[in-house]
Amino acid sequence: MTMRDESCIFCKIANGDIPSRTIYEDEDFRVILDLAPAVKGHALILPKNHYRNLYEITDDTAAKVLPLAKKMAVHMTERLGCDGFNVIQNNNEVAGQTVFHFHVHLIPRYRDDGQNLVLEAHTMSDEELDAVRDSIAL
Ligand code: AMP
Ligand code: ZN
Repeated sequence: MTMRDESCIFCKIANGDIPSRTIYEDEDFRVILDLAPAVKGHALILPKNHYRNLYEITDDTAAKVLPLAKKMAVHMTERLGCDGFNVIQNNNEVAGQTVFHFHVHLIPRYRDDGQNLVLEAHTMSDEELDAVRDSIAL
């Protein structure tokens, strides 16, 4: 029995209530093609349980998701012949999350694919960097 949110579209897709272009499925996850792909092969890892985002996933889900991302990246790279790969995961609106069911983007990258995911870099003084480190060191 999966933990679902009745109003969540990814719960319905992950559990097979809404059809999707599934490229992998196991007990815990479904991997589907993104409906509006950034590039050819853009896919999403969806846990079958509903978690809003990274802040809410269980350690068990967290422990399983990166091995699956790796397995998919290796397989997809072999099949698609892509030149690289981005694994992206957005949390909350400010970070670009639009569907509030935890998911991981699998994004094959091709030379000259016209995409640019590079964040703008800023310089920070040593003092500022030290202060940031001190505030978040665990
Ligand atoms: P994010 O911005 O990280 O929340 O990503 C949401 C992603 O889900 C976007 O890339 C959308 O194109 C994709 N998406 C939204 N609805 C569907 C759907 N019904 N089936 C497949 N992908 C979807
Ligand atoms: Zn959900």
